[in-house]
Amino acid sequence: MLSFIVVGAGPTGVELAGQIKELAQRYFAESIGNIKGEDVTVTLVEGADKVLPPFGGKLSEYSKVSLEKAGVDVVVGTMVTDIDEHGATLKTANTGETRRLTAETIIWSAGIQANDFADVLAERTGCETVRSGRLLVDNDFTVGRADNIYAIGDMVTLDNLPAQSPFAMQGGRHVAKMILGKVPAGTAFQYRDKGSMAIINRFRAITRVGKIELTGFIAWVLWLAVHLVYLVGFRNRYIAVMSWCGSFLGHRRPHFYYAQELEPVAPAEAEKPADAPKTDAAKAGVSKTGAPKADATKHRASGRRGRPRPPRACLSRSRRSPVSERKFSRNEARPHRSGLVARDARD
Ligand SMILES: Cc1cc2nc3c(=O)[nH]c(=O)nc-3n(C[C@H](O)[C@H](O)[C@H](O)COP(=O)(O)OP(=O)(O)OC[C@H]3O[C@@H](n4cnc5c(N)ncnc54)[C@H](O)[C@@H]3O)c2cc1C
Repeated sequence: MLSFIVVGAGPTGVELAGQIKELAQRYFAESIGNIKGEDVTVTLVEGADKVLPPFGGKLSEYSKVSLEKAGVDVVVGTMVTDIDEHGATLKTANTGETRRLTAETIIWSAGIQANDFADVLAERTGCETVRSGRLLVDNDFTVGRADNIYAIGDMVTLDNLPAQSPFAMQGGRHVAKMILGKVPAGTAFQYRDKGSMAIINRFRAITRVGKIELTGFIAWVLWLAVHLVYLVGFRNRYIAVMSWCGSFLGHRRPHFYYAQELEPVAPAEAEKPADAPKTDAAKAGVSKTGAPKADATKHRASGRRGRPRPPRACLSRSRRSPVSERKFSRNEARPHRSGLVARDARD
């Protein structure tokens, strides 16, 4: 779980590589005692000769240097030709030289494959598709022979426009206007390039609007502002801002609590000597209230819904838990503050 390969250095790959490394350095080191940020390796592999090829120039160079400073290994001009459970095979574009890179986790961010539903639409309407299965729609987003079926967003391609959120949002608005009769059916879509941006990691992003190019903190603030504006409703915006404050200014990553619920350890039980006498209720597998006790194995294997409520300390780090009351020496395997412990620390 500690070595990652991210394939493709478009906005998605750059964001993922930057975020994984940042999580490792800012979150893992803080929360999982025996993992340091440096233990986590992230390699970003890109077939083109630069990171974020559509941006190019100063912006691509800035992104590459920022990722490298953050500890990401950036490999450009190299194609991934094979992936298996132990790693990936890389082939240098210029020389044809191949080499193996081992990793437990490989993330594909080098382009999207359309949802299976695109195949159904293509078959029923005679719509052409490109290699990735995306529908080659008409300029009003109608699909194949049908003049009342529209497809938008990542599952379609039109005029080689980038499969990114501006294309999906503008396409959505255009189709909505046609359906509502605000513009005549069959009106050709006109894409408006409002600029592009990509986030690298905390405090670093790049932005291009017309001829204006921004990097670093200002671009990062702009990235946040734009994403906030496009969120629907005040409540969502408020939650996003609070969550960003927790993540960017503090070290909170609530989603990790949910993930670590998969490895529950009851601290009191864990510290009990093996030969401690069991109560009758414990022997019978029922709680003091008479309710059946949660089975730890089932808890681990089942999905979130319907699972027993997590330990209280999971819900709030500020509440005192039995774990937080104990002091741990620096080198001791330290249970997670939430009362949960990383698998190798527990073993
Ligand atoms: C990590 C990452 C970073 C990105 N960064 C950027 C960026 O910086 N800038 C940018 O412009 N773009 C970025 N993108 C791309 C952008 O997110 C997509 O282009 C955009 O979201 C496409 O919109 P969409 O509506 O087509 O698909 P989505 O936003 O993926 O929405 C599709 C929705 O349909 C739901 N769905 C799927 N199948 C079914 C089904 N059978 N029934 C019901 N619901 C279903 C999905 O759950 C999902 O909610 C990024 C993407 C990723 C993954």
